Amino acid sequence: MKEVILVKYGEMALKGLNKHSFEKLLMQQIKSRLHSLGEFGYTCAQSTIYIVPQDERISLDAAVERLKRVFGIATICRACSCEKSMEDIMAKSVDYLHETLETAVSFKVEAKRADKQFPLRSPEICMELGSFLCEHFPELQVDVHTPEVTVMVDIRDTNAFVYAEKIKGAGGLPLGSSGKAMLLLSGGIDSPVAGYMLAKRGVFISAVHFASPPYTSERARLKVEQLCEKMTDYCGEIHFYCVPFTEIQETLKNKCPEEYFTILMRRLMMLIAQEIAQKEGASVLITGESVGQVASQTLQAMVCTDAVCKMPVFRPCIGLDKTEIIEIARKIDTFDISIQPYEDCCTVFTPKHPKLRPQLDRIEAAQERGDLAELIRKAVEETEYKVISGRR
Ligand code: ATP
Ligand code: MG
Repeated sequence: MKEVILVKYGEMALKGLNKHSFEKLLMQQIKSRLHSLGEFGYTCAQSTIYIVPQDERISLDAAVERLKRVFGIATICRACSCEKSMEDIMAKSVDYLHETLETAVSFKVEAKRADKQFPLRSPEICMELGSFLCEHFPELQVDVHTPEVTVMVDIRDTNAFVYAEKIKGAGGLPLGSSGKAMLLLSGGIDSPVAGYMLAKRGVFISAVHFASPPYTSERARLKVEQLCEKMTDYCGEIHFYCVPFTEIQETLKNKCPEEYFTILMRRLMMLIAQEIAQKEGASVLITGESVGQVASQTLQAMVCTDAVCKMPVFRPCIGLDKTEIIEIARKIDTFDISIQPYEDCCTVFTPKHPKLRPQLDRIEAAQERGDLAELIRKAVEETEYKVISGRR
C-alpha cells in the first residue's frame, strides 16, 4: 500500500492574484525541509500539495514532523493512494483505516471528484463507500452532522486518495512572503519567541547578538547559536551576527551617568543592529520586549530607545505576560535552552537605580559625552558572521 502526504494551505488560499507566488514560496520551503529525508514527487492542485515519496524506505513520520513546522500549512493529511476504481478504493479503505474505524463510534464519508470522468458522482461515492464500510465494521454508525471520523476520498487525474486523519499545521504564511527582519537575539526566553512570531507571518529572520567577553563567556555565545539552530526548525536558515560589545559597554560605564547606562546600552544595540540590518537587506528590527517587564521596557524607556534609529522596531511580545511567552517558548522548544544559566551582556554593569522614565534630551546629551562613533564603527567592522542552517 502506497502512502502519500497531502498538505493544505490556509489563509494563503485567499490571496487572490498573489496566490501563485505564495504557492511557489511554500513549495520551496517544503522541498528544502524534506530534502534530506529522500526524494519526493510534488504536485499542486486546488489548494493542496501532493507529496509522494519516491522510495518506500522514506519515513513519513519524520516528514510529517518537519512539515508541522512549515509556515503557510493549515493541515497535513497522510493518505493512501488507490487506483481510480471503487473496488480498489473500498478495499484499500478497509485496510488503511482499519485501526481508526474499528474503534470509532461514528463516521461519514466525504468525496471530492476533480476528475469529472470518474463514473460515480461525489454523493454516490459517499453512499457506496459508506455502506461498504458499515458492512465491514458492524459497530460503526453513520453520523453526517458530528461524526467522530470523516473518511475523505479525493479523486484526482491519475489516482484516488483515501484518508481520515488531519494534523494541524503551523499556520501563518510561507517564509519569504513578507520580507526580512533583524532579530536582536539574547540568550533569554523572549527574543526567540519574538522571532518565531514574525517568521510565522512570512518574515525571513536574521539575528544579531551582542557579546561582551570576558564578562560574558564563550559558552553564553554558544547557547545563543544553539537557540538559533533550534529556531531554524521554523525559521529556515538564519544569518547570525555576533557583535563585540565590551568596549562600548566599558566606555558607557566610565563616561556616562550610571542611571542612564541601561537605556544608552539599548540605544547602541539598536544603532548597531540597524546598521547590520541595512547591510543584510532587512527592513525592520525585532526585539523580545514586553511592556513593564524590566526597567528598560517602560513606555518612556522604549520611546528613548526607538528615537535613536530610523528603522521600525517590532516587539511582537509587547502585550504578552511572561507565562504566555513561556508557553510559546515551550511549544517551539527553545525554553530549555533559554533557561540555561549563562550571563547576558545586559546584566553586566547593571545600575542599581535605572531611570524608569528617562527624558530623551538628557539621554542624548549623555550619549554625546560617550563619544562613541569610532567605537560603533569598530564594533560593526569586527562583527562575526555565520550562516546557521540547522539540523538538516
Ligand atoms: P530576553 O528573554 O529575550 O532576553 P528579557 O526579558 O531578558 O528578554 P532584556 O534583557 O531587557 O529582556 O532584553 C530585551 C530585548 O533586547 C531582548 O528580548 C532582545 O531582543 C534584546 N537583547 C537583550 N540582550 C541582547 C543581546 N545580548 N544581544 C542581542 N539582543 C539582546
Ligand atoms: Mg535578556
